[in-house]
Amino acid sequence: MSAHAVSPQISFDESLIRKYDQSGPRYTSYPTADRFHNGFTEKDYRQALMARREKPEPLSVYVHIPFCNTICYYCACNKIITKDHGRSAKYIRYLAREMDIVCGLLEPRDVRSLKQLHWGGGTPTFLSSEEMTALMEHLKNYFTLTEDAEVSVEVDPRKVDAETVALLGRLGFNRISVGVQDFNLEVQKAINRIQSEEETLMVIHAARANGFISVNTDLIYGLPKQTIDGFAETLDRVISVSPDRIALYNYAHVPHMAKPQRRIALEDVPGPEEKLQILALAIEKLGSAGYIYIGMDHFAKPDDELARAQREGTLHRNFQGYTTHADCDLLAFGISGIGKVGATYVQSVKTLDDYYGALDMRKLPVLRGYVLDSDDIVRRAVIQQLMCQFELFPAKVERQWGLVFDDYFATEKALLPPLAEDGLIDLLPDRIRVTDRGRLLVRTVAMLFDKHLREAEVRGKYSKVI
Ligand code: SF4
Repeated sequence: MSAHAVSPQISFDESLIRKYDQSGPRYTSYPTADRFHNGFTEKDYRQALMARREKPEPLSVYVHIPFCNTICYYCACNKIITKDHGRSAKYIRYLAREMDIVCGLLEPRDVRSLKQLHWGGGTPTFLSSEEMTALMEHLKNYFTLTEDAEVSVEVDPRKVDAETVALLGRLGFNRISVGVQDFNLEVQKAINRIQSEEETLMVIHAARANGFISVNTDLIYGLPKQTIDGFAETLDRVISVSPDRIALYNYAHVPHMAKPQRRIALEDVPGPEEKLQILALAIEKLGSAGYIYIGMDHFAKPDDELARAQREGTLHRNFQGYTTHADCDLLAFGISGIGKVGATYVQSVKTLDDYYGALDMRKLPVLRGYVLDSDDIVRRAVIQQLMCQFELFPAKVERQWGLVFDDYFATEKALLPPLAEDGLIDLLPDRIRVTDRGRLLVRTVAMLFDKHLREAEVRGKYSKVI
């Protein structure tokens, strides 16, 4: 395969990908979560929350529902596999308790307006209808959703009927993310996730019938037993129902880090060559079907709000991926959730016992966190620009942060010319621009500006770029 354009804004260049296919972070935050430390305590989080009284940024809320009915072998998320639905009822009571403590530290209710709410997991639809209703009531008790709020939920079609989707609509959800991965039965058997096309399409149709503004589907390439022809069929079928967004994730086989992956036979996983061909095919098909490359695994229709935000320069990136909401503080509720308040990041404890134990003492369930210094804040803005807009204007950085770009980033500037020679970036008089060929590798460019990464040489920890 040679370099060939497949859409006006992204092209697949096999040799470039091979050269730069190194491990790297995904930059849903900067600094990345591996920088968080236990020296950041509950007291620090309380202080950050109280500091919001002086400067109440708009709010976004993430709720983590960790439960799943069965295990998907590829999964590296923090989840609890159980058939015992009694466990979620208790969890919801404690979520309310956590909201009570957090909101007790915030400014009065009338300014606590929520621009964005997301339920993720695990499997949010593990909850019964009553539990979903109760959880939304708790949230509405503490927060006020703005008129244009983005209210989204991750749905596993295997456990959902049309009535549940209708309920989600009535509860106020207007965006839905549907896990598909691959429609091929052999792949589904190999990952222990049997999910018929009918049940998936039913959820998508029900979402549209119930007024959801945006439908996202998640696909994964590189899964065991996946073939080029089989994945081509999955892509055709997904494209035929015209989701507003398609996320195409890379399966990284790291059984030493993700225990469930030990159930996947290495010989069933496509080799690097085949995997690249599957990716090339996916990009070609999505481009031909009119999808725009947003960045880092995400494609959207040109009229989708993410694509519009990218065109208008207002696209942002947070722990949930790309978003149109700039500079929101993000409050995370539930185990392992990661939030951002002012110049701090905070992550919650990872087990139910720790979570319940902390809340029983009316303590916030903080596991670790991080306070950004002024250099982190500048670099966060630079990396955000690259990840979301694929270009960086030094003059803008100088104006915004009162620095001389060439001096401040002298080390980074010296590293840029080889990337330009390879065609990953263009060094233009007024900007650094990631080329169409470089877009799939944008995090390679972002990594140059990551001081922590450079200092710590922790590349071995991350999944491959592609
Ligand atoms: S992929 Fe989703 S449904 Fe499957 S085990 Fe992981 S969190 Fe649960």
